[in-house]
Amino acid sequence: MERNNLIYQLQEIDKKITDVSKQLAEKKEAKGLKELESQKDKLENDKQLLEETIEAKEKELKKCELESESYFQEKRKLENEIYSGEINDVDQLEKMRKKADQYEKKEDEIAHRFYDLTEELSENKEELEKKVENIKIINKQISDNKKQLEEQIKQQENILSELKYKKEKIVYKLDEKILEEYELLFEKYPDSAVVQVMHDMCAGCNIALPTSVLSELHVEGIKKCSNCGRILVDLDL
Ligand SMILES: [Zn+2]
Repeated sequence: MERNNLIYQLQEIDKKITDVSKQLAEKKEAKGLKELESQKDKLENDKQLLEETIEAKEKELKKCELESESYFQEKRKLENEIYSGEINDVDQLEKMRKKADQYEKKEDEIAHRFYDLTEELSENKEELEKKVENIKIINKQISDNKKQLEEQIKQQENILSELKYKKEKIVYKLDEKILEEYELLFEKYPDSAVVQVMHDMCAGCNIALPTSVLSELHVEGIKKCSNCGRILVDLDL
């Protein structure tokens, strides 16, 4: 194969290497996976807070039960005394009745609190179940996503090594001087270091080429653009 075709093919391979390398870097960065993992962290955090809330409310519920029981006992004790017939002092009896009423009021308040807490707890537990379910779902997504990424990375690494092997074979056939020129140009024009002539113009800079350059190109198959310095090739030769 002639230099013109080789250098053109080299550029095609280098373009593919650039693309695949970019894709590979994106895959390795794993933005989607990181997003999922941060969602999972948030869910785990929410779950822990809920568990703490539930624990605290269950403790409070227990406390309510104990308090309610103690008010109930106090009230009963008072009532027993009131109805025992042993106390005849009207004022004292009145005081005791008031006290018993207070205990009953306290009992009522605790019963309300107990009811509210039970409602809240059932909501919290429902919410916790949902969080646990969502964590399961996101764990599955993370594991699927990881597997998929690993496969894609492996695939692209294979493609990249094939491309590099093809590149090596071409590089081996080209002389150092043209390779050096090409490398510099490819850095500057990653899409068009090597171009063809279109309507007697350089396809890189779109400037009409002098007849002398064109005729030499048609003979040699390779030439530098007199305007931009890109490598011109005639692939029909
Ligand atoms: Zn040019």
